[in-house]
Amino acid sequence: MSSGIRFDSVTVAYDGNVVLDALDLTVEPGEVMALLGPSGSGKTTALRAVAGFVRPASGRVYLGERDVTELPPHRRGIGMVVQQYALFPHMRVEDNVAFGLKARKVVAKSEIRGRVAEALEMTGMAAYSRRHPRELSGGQQQRVAIARALAIRPGVLLLDEPLSALDARLRSGMLAELARLHRELPEVSILYVTHDQVEALTLADRIAVMDRARLQDCGTPHQLYRAPRTEFTASFVGNANLLPVTVGEGGVSFGGREVEVGTEGIARGAQATLCVRPHLIGLGDGPNQLAGTVDEIQWRGATHRLYVDVDGHRLMADLRELKAPPAHGDAVTLHFAPEDATLLPAGVTPEAPHGSHP
Ligand code: ADP
Repeated sequence: MSSGIRFDSVTVAYDGNVVLDALDLTVEPGEVMALLGPSGSGKTTALRAVAGFVRPASGRVYLGERDVTELPPHRRGIGMVVQQYALFPHMRVEDNVAFGLKARKVVAKSEIRGRVAEALEMTGMAAYSRRHPRELSGGQQQRVAIARALAIRPGVLLLDEPLSALDARLRSGMLAELARLHRELPEVSILYVTHDQVEALTLADRIAVMDRARLQDCGTPHQLYRAPRTEFTASFVGNANLLPVTVGEGGVSFGGREVEVGTEGIARGAQATLCVRPHLIGLGDGPNQLAGTVDEIQWRGATHRLYVDVDGHRLMADLRELKAPPAHGDAVTLHFAPEDATLLPAGVTPEAPHGSHP
């Protein structure tokens, strides 16, 4: 059963504190939407509103065409996986996976075994069905938790920081696993809460960026990375150099220098912020030259990260490993192509994000 998710102006408050502020967001059937933002920005609250564990103060939640705002969690047809595996320690893997099916009483007893086997197969845990959770690694426990969520054949899968309890190496393996699962279950809509931009960029069809209870931006990973609409998005999705510029009749200027960059959507006479990604900055002569002094240089294997002081602004440049890297205090020239920079309105949050609808 495939169904999208729609938040229609969903507001959640605890003791009068608004922690989710009129969220409007649509997850299309089969889409993976990441909710990305710092801790406390309201991501989990949004997820729990879909699951039915928190009740909105106002607004509606839809699954497909169905308004589920008043529906109890177990009647929403949702699979959910949280950070802490939350398996029952006294139950074997197969019983943990069967639990949701038995509790819902929607599947005939004779069918349960098959469903459990299928879910364990899908998550690569078929060989572990007789074990108890304590006999499994963290990654394996999380696979069981995913199997349990999938066993009910949900139309919607909610994942709340599912990888954050795992170490870095396991995390990247599980990330690939989740991508594979989604390819195998293309009709399942996934809402994926994370504060990790790599997870969001890797898995999501679109990313909803949250900050301080509000949706700040929403778009494909490519849109948000290449053309962020707010300073917050620019610095939260990837690294960014953010420079204050003035947009005048004669063009854009940064500390008296002319800068060549598209000015679409930015009013003349306005203060704006120029955003350039560190890996799109080159060393030496080129368009949009900036002269500065090397503050710090870090060798990172494949790249050198240069911190360059330009008129008191500290710019980051990620350069392919340099044969003859400059030293601290050296004068250098940086440049960037006009099409590699984006102008953002300074310190303004747009009212209508990049399309909360695709
Ligand atoms: P995130 O998932 O982005 O880290 P949350 O949605 O968990 O953020 O929390 C948003 C805000 O709501 C936080 O300030 C948090 O302290 C508060 N909050 C979450 N759950 C409760 C609760 N049950 N009671 C009171 N405040 C809560």
